[in-house]
Amino acid sequence: MFGKMKEFLTAELQSLTDQKLYKHERIIESSQGAEIIVKGRKVLNFCANNYLGLSSHPDLIKAAHEGIDERGYGLSSVRFICGTQDIHKILEKKVSEFLGTDDTILFSSCFDANGAVFEPLLGEQDAIITDALNHASIIDGIRLCKAQRWIYSHGNMSNEIGLDPATGKELKGLERCLIEANNAGCRFKMIATDGCFSMDGDIAKLDKIVELADKYDALVMVDESHASGFMGKTGRGTHEYRGVMGKIDVITTTFGKALGGASGGCISGHKEIIDWMRNKGRPYLFSNTVPPATVYGTIKVMDILMASTFLRDKLETNTKIFRTAMTEAGFDIIPGDHPIVPIMFGKYPNCSQLAVDFANKMLEEGIYVIAFSFPVVPRGKDRIRVQLSAGHDPEHVDIAVKAFIKVGKELNMI
Ligand SMILES: *Cc1c(COP(=O)(O)O)cnc(C)c1O
Repeated sequence: MFGKMKEFLTAELQSLTDQKLYKHERIIESSQGAEIIVKGRKVLNFCANNYLGLSSHPDLIKAAHEGIDERGYGLSSVRFICGTQDIHKILEKKVSEFLGTDDTILFSSCFDANGAVFEPLLGEQDAIITDALNHASIIDGIRLCKAQRWIYSHGNMSNEIGLDPATGKELKGLERCLIEANNAGCRFKMIATDGCFSMDGDIAKLDKIVELADKYDALVMVDESHASGFMGKTGRGTHEYRGVMGKIDVITTTFGKALGGASGGCISGHKEIIDWMRNKGRPYLFSNTVPPATVYGTIKVMDILMASTFLRDKLETNTKIFRTAMTEAGFDIIPGDHPIVPIMFGKYPNCSQLAVDFANKMLEEGIYVIAFSFPVVPRGKDRIRVQLSAGHDPEHVDIAVKAFIKVGKELNMI
């Protein structure tokens, strides 16, 4: 029966390959960290979401072992039947304390958390107002709910309607969308945004978003996957960075990035919302509970981060050193504070190929970075995205900058 589909898929896969869109996975032959083994060679990793260097941290590994020894390998149950242990409740309490919220509900991933969060809260009479560059999981979560949708152009807080010069399509600012949702008589309105956007490393203007939410009686939902653990003075996230802690209605985040890097995610916020999710969130009700090893590991992460800001401070220092050195070397980088540092290639001829060649040469120099080209980023916005980590030592950052300068000169960029 597979015959016709096989033919179809073979042709489609070939077409992806021809367009250079086929995704090739590089194989890592070591654990995750600043130094990894790729093709039998040790290289420095500058493209992981391992922002705090916790993925292979000895304290987490020890905690995960204890989790298995004390609470077993798995629960073989969803939470509400027999999948809730004392440790799940402890982790939820600690995450709430860390984020500054009433309560928290765990999911197998943040993708699931975003898939769960909208549908039980918002129906046909309601409005979701969403940033055009929100993560795929927010977009999919919104698709699962019946609320009316307004999309505002990325980061645009204005009450204006503009035109996209590329497509001629209308572009609206957030305030314009809120006004329209009000005029449509929507019952509840919820603004949804990433805290930090992963392609440019830019940070949502949550202070302004909260101000507009107050003005137009809307709720605010923020996905903190690229922020939890390190943004803000004590690493609590974008809400701390923007000075609006305690003013966000719904936070979702992942434990698969800075917060240990294994897996798992959560929704955190008002008590009533979390209670409602425990009763109505489908990926919670119908999917297995987070395993003890991950729960113990993430509890350890919370304890480490609430005891000291050492890791996020080190990450901030590494980020500043790298950004300053690369700017001084003459590279075109998108300015900002985030450990995602995009090195832009748009101003050079043949920029897509150049970025790919650059990344390959960097690997020869022992630095693992990835080039992003159209359609992942807009045409002309080709880039190498570097991600700093507290797992990097100053020498690692220095070696990376030297390699960038060497390759940049070889390719006549600087
Ligand atoms: C990575 C990411 C997710 C998915 O998190 P998982 O826990 O890996 O499913 C969701 N939202 C954003 C913004 C992300 O960057």
